[in-house]
Amino acid sequence: MSRLARVATISVHTSPLDQPGTGDAGGMNVYIVEVAKRMAERGIEVDLFTRATSRTLPPVAELAPGVLVRHVSAGPLEELDKSELPNQMCAFTSGLLRTEAAHEPGHYDLIHSHYWLSGQAGHAARMRWGVPLVHSMHTLAKVKNAALADGDTPEPLGRVLGEQRVVDSADRLIANTADEASQLRTLYDADPQQVETVLPGVDLTTFTPEAPGEAKPSHVEARRRLGLPPDRSVLLFVGRIQPLKAPDVLIRATAAMVEREPRLRDRLLVAVVGGPSGSGRSRPRELVELAARLGVADMVRFEPPCPQSELADWYRAADITVVPSHSESFGLVAVESQACGTPVVAAAVGGLKTAVRDGVSGVLVRGHEPADYARVLLDLLDAPRRLRRMSAEAARHGAAFGWEATADRLLEIYAKAVGERAMAASA
Ligand code: UDP
Repeated sequence: MSRLARVATISVHTSPLDQPGTGDAGGMNVYIVEVAKRMAERGIEVDLFTRATSRTLPPVAELAPGVLVRHVSAGPLEELDKSELPNQMCAFTSGLLRTEAAHEPGHYDLIHSHYWLSGQAGHAARMRWGVPLVHSMHTLAKVKNAALADGDTPEPLGRVLGEQRVVDSADRLIANTADEASQLRTLYDADPQQVETVLPGVDLTTFTPEAPGEAKPSHVEARRRLGLPPDRSVLLFVGRIQPLKAPDVLIRATAAMVEREPRLRDRLLVAVVGGPSGSGRSRPRELVELAARLGVADMVRFEPPCPQSELADWYRAADITVVPSHSESFGLVAVESQACGTPVVAAAVGGLKTAVRDGVSGVLVRGHEPADYARVLLDLLDAPRRLRRMSAEAARHGAAFGWEATADRLLEIYAKAVGERAMAASA
């Protein structure tokens, strides 16, 4: 049986060192970092390859013991629009191949690429190194294009074709949920044997109902730390501000709630944590304007992206987290919130149907009609006992997701892929 000692993980367009919650950095960054750390703890070295975007970053940086971030020169040393990145793939792939060539042959035992662009480089490296390619799509262009929000730009044909190329060449495709696995089979004609479903995780030491050192659920303490009033209901949105995530639905639902129950104006607060992303319309300025137009500006608080340790306090402080996305391959925010004991009201799309237990740890809403969200949110806020029960269930459900399980499943899949490759080579 071949031993698995070193993995090359590829994330071309967003660095594992970036702060998630703005620009192109989100759940995928969290996934890559958390899995790499768990793999290193299990004795597997991980080299994370990403495009160099700053002169101040060293060519190689240690992220954690056993985990290196390798910055590959490909294009200008600054953020590039994602649409420009395909033009830099040749340079990126050369840099990746050169890094391996500087070592003894057989330096990497397996490649794990994330997002379709990385899959292009992974495909070339697989051919050159003769090792298996495992690929995670994270989002699928065909699925995204079928659920476009108003103001969203469709994903280009080049991406659809690129995704197809990766499906055709990868040894294994990792899907976040059974839904995504089925989309890979039906929309991209992936071989059922090729597709493996692996649930993402949550950092269960950070996302807990109690803050470290606190004995009791720290709703009140978290609010004090964040400067939030203790006596208002708090609804929370966390994530990149882009049309696909539909933060506008929450703002519109807030206006609808106040229209139905004017007393809520002084009793409800909406917190939006995250920064702008993508080319769509829902940038914070536009959201601020929307809130003003709808007469709820004084009820909405916008916060810049923050590290997960602080984010945990936002979840703890909230009564309900709202995730009204048009499309979501999984939705880490939903699970993190539940792990902190905060129920989630989410759109019944993609991975959110797995992330939230409808009617138990939260509520799934069909469609994106603000009035529907307003009704569900009002019903929950008016039923504190139900909300408390949901909160306990949410904590239980959230605690079932851990990055350890994700890393262990991936390692099983890596071992199978490496074993098959070795057998094929000796046949
Ligand atoms: N996040 C963060 N700080 C913020 C906002 C978000 O660290 O201020 C993280 C959050 O904890 C989550 C990720 O960004 O792990 C977002 O992942 P999700 O799957 O919800 O959405 P994606 O960005 O992948 O579309």
